[in-house]
Amino acid sequence: MTECPICGAEIAFAQGTVVGELLECADCGSELEVTGLDPAAVTEAPETEEDWGE
Ligand SMILES: [Zn+2]
Repeated sequence: MTECPICGAEIAFAQGTVVGELLECADCGSELEVTGLDPAAVTEAPETEEDWGE
């Protein structure tokens, strides 16, 4: 169990969660990336801009 870095809501990982997985905070809807499992840690996922260039 960890908390959302954006809103502080508790984040519970589903079974089978892996580092690098993207989650959505149920409270604020922010996209979060799992950065650690033991201890549990998440960070705000970088904006995934679909920048395909030219
Ligand atoms: Zn949140």
